[in-house]
Amino acid sequence: MTSAPPKSSVALASADLDRPLRAALPELARGAATLARLGISTPREALFYLPFRYDDFSELRPLGELIPDEKQSARARVIDLKVEKGFGRRPQRVIAQLADDTGTAEAIWFGRRYVETRLHAGDDVVVSGKVTLRGWRPQFTSPEFSPAGTTSMHTARVVPVYRLVGGVTQRRVREQLARILDRALPALDDPLRASERPDLPPLDEALRAAHFPEEAADVVGALDRLAFDELLALQLTLAQARRAREGQRAPRVTVDPAELDRLLAALPFQLTHDQRRAVDEIVVDLASERPMRRLLQGDVGSGKTAVAAVALAGVVRSGWQAALMAPTEILARQHHAGLAPLLDALGVRVEFLSGSLRTGRKQEVHAAIEAGEAEVVIGTHAVISEAVTFRNLGLAVVDEQHRFGVAQRAALQAKGLELEPHVLALTATPIPRTLALTFYGDLSISTIRELPPGRHPIRTELRDRGALPKIEAFLADEAAAGRQSFVVAPLVMESEALSAASAEAEAERLAAALPGLNVGLVHGQQRADLRDETMAAFVAGELDVLVATTVVEVGIDVPNASVMLIEDAERFGLAQLHQLRGRVGRGPHRSFCILLSNATDPLARRRLEVLRESSDGFVIAEADLALRGAGNLLGTRQSGLPPLRVASLFEPRHVALAERARELADRLVAEDPGLVRRPELARLRADFAAAEEEGDAA
Ligand code: ADP
Ligand code: MG
Repeated sequence: MTSAPPKSSVALASADLDRPLRAALPELARGAATLARLGISTPREALFYLPFRYDDFSELRPLGELIPDEKQSARARVIDLKVEKGFGRRPQRVIAQLADDTGTAEAIWFGRRYVETRLHAGDDVVVSGKVTLRGWRPQFTSPEFSPAGTTSMHTARVVPVYRLVGGVTQRRVREQLARILDRALPALDDPLRASERPDLPPLDEALRAAHFPEEAADVVGALDRLAFDELLALQLTLAQARRAREGQRAPRVTVDPAELDRLLAALPFQLTHDQRRAVDEIVVDLASERPMRRLLQGDVGSGKTAVAAVALAGVVRSGWQAALMAPTEILARQHHAGLAPLLDALGVRVEFLSGSLRTGRKQEVHAAIEAGEAEVVIGTHAVISEAVTFRNLGLAVVDEQHRFGVAQRAALQAKGLELEPHVLALTATPIPRTLALTFYGDLSISTIRELPPGRHPIRTELRDRGALPKIEAFLADEAAAGRQSFVVAPLVMESEALSAASAEAEAERLAAALPGLNVGLVHGQQRADLRDETMAAFVAGELDVLVATTVVEVGIDVPNASVMLIEDAERFGLAQLHQLRGRVGRGPHRSFCILLSNATDPLARRRLEVLRESSDGFVIAEADLALRGAGNLLGTRQSGLPPLRVASLFEPRHVALAERARELADRLVAEDPGLVRRPELARLRADFAAAEEEGDAA
């Protein structure tokens, strides 16, 4: 830091960064409780609680020159302020009349915001917000405001917008974070040396600009730096895993070609060309002493499970045990249901293992696994990795439907085994090959692009909300024909609590609009058992319509579902929309995906049209990559991909950063495998691993 005079407050010591907020910064008082509600418990967590978006209010315009539908600011006098009481379902409204030399405008706030205690007729203020035209008059809807002539972190600048929970305001979060930044940033050590981050800013500068940029352009460099650190953490993880594996030996599992032919002949269908190639690639890897780490990627329904079945059976026929692990009980059960008939046809003995089995039964399965009698075991990650000792595990198939973590699970529990099992990861999130090599650098990749013959394409339509009554009638027709529908509720970016509320409201609305239909609801704020129960009821066909937020896993297979209705579709990533669409069209019925969107932005329309025009996950991923420009600052969380918060696989600048991070990580790990001489880097890596675990738990 150069010249800035010290603030009135003193900097924290670096040890304070990880102490409870209340202890490290007693003066925050109740502010600490506010932040705790957002999951922030230490100064360091506060520093890294990044905005998910910015509002650029830096343009200051006279009232007479306000531009409709733009975010902007104005300096004006409050001529009149009136509070209209709410009644029934109508919220209270506060309306201010504003004027300057050039014209007049109105500002309106809804709900109990206590605006009237902070704003009075005669005040000179700066207001910042989005303007719409009410007749001929410009109106600010719920603008931020501050007294004119003061500097404010809420108005007339680029303003950070944070994820919130109910009862916490942007204003309050901004104010608390600004106080913490002042005290805590000077205590933060930069994990990177200047030579390791050419043309990226130092960490403290990056964090300050990420929260409170002086101007919009500052955000890009700041987020690039934070993205780089995140990518470096990922690449350090991968580099360490690669290195750890160098010394490991896997069983040589040699699948006899004649035996392989027999297995393929026993399948109820002929493998597609892509499936067959994947099988051959796996068979080659299995015969090596180097542990296989292979990713099998292909769209939902492309036949990955069938490939896995052949691999599992091949391994068993060569005298080894094999396992398939899924992230949740429901998915494990579905894998079991899908695989058991195939493996049965191939003459392989399968055991299912899950936390919900009776203790006695569980012990039987454990014993069968230890004795080597269980040839293939299917279950959840937790059950298989923690509680079980295999006699001779040759292959572990992991379902990566909803997470990354291959690197972590590379150190798969192989207790009592001298040999490291081969690992095959299945993923239904296709990503372009160049990206895959960058982000899964330690994996080999098999790709299935071609779908098995005889699939009905899913018809995808783009509609606006005006079409809802017709769509509802369609849902009712489908229900009458015995089909089921998914409705993905409007996404509320600011908070999971709000999304849950909107899902609830949507479920109520649909239940009212569709009397006689059974409408269920699942969201991430429900108790897990209630959620599982509702899911199970939908799978069993007891519900006609399932309203869900996306946080809820819809990785389940419901062949009877024929409609996927996604509201506010423009707010989702293309990969995510494609995943959601893959939930239908899994049975013999004609299936539909309806993307509901009122977006008028041409780019948003174009993105949705990509989805209408293509059903190939790879084409969609590539189009997504091409359509996203520098405009997309924060990465959206994509299922099956690394849990990156800042970096995005679909941001070309970040892909370039990932390559740099990979080179740096290789060098750092080669010099100092445990990163013992670089504790800040070790911590970066550890924090990333912890974030991943948390993502897994969510
Ligand atoms: P994924 O695991 O990629 O979602 P699955 O392996 O579960 O796909 O296959 C989806 C469906 O297609 C299953 O019903 C499976 O039996 C069937 N299937 C898989 N491969 C073929 C094939 N080559 N020919 C015909 N049907 C196939
Ligand atoms: Mg499958």
